Amino acid sequence: MPLYTYENKHQDSHCTYCLGGFVVMQKLADPVFTHCTYCGCEIKKVITASHLKTKVTGSSNSTLSEKNITKNDFTQYRKVGKGQYEKTVGKGPDTIQADD
Ligand SMILES: [Zn+2]
Repeated sequence: MPLYTYENKHQDSHCTYCLGGFVVMQKLADPVFTHCTYCGCEIKKVITASHLKTKVTGSSNSTLSEKNITKNDFTQYRKVGKGQYEKTVGKGPDTIQADD
C-alpha cells in the first residue's frame, strides 16, 4: 500500500497530530484526506511516498548462506549432541567430535 504524506495547510490552526505533517498508508482507492481527523483543520497531500517502501532483496546474513560457504570451500557443522557435530555443508568429514 502506498504511503501518503499530509501537511497542515494553515499553520495557524492545528493539533499535535497534524503539526509538522503526518504519513498515512492508504489504498489507491481510498479518498484523499482534506481535513485532519483530530482537529478538523485543512490539510493537503504533499507527496506520494511509495518509493519509501522497504526494499527486501534478501536476508542480511546472506554471506553466511550455505551456498556461499560451499563456494568458499568452508565446511559448516551443526551441533547434534555433546561435543558432536554433524556436517551440514562443505567438504569435511560428515561428523566431528570435540572433547569438552
Ligand atoms: Zn489536526
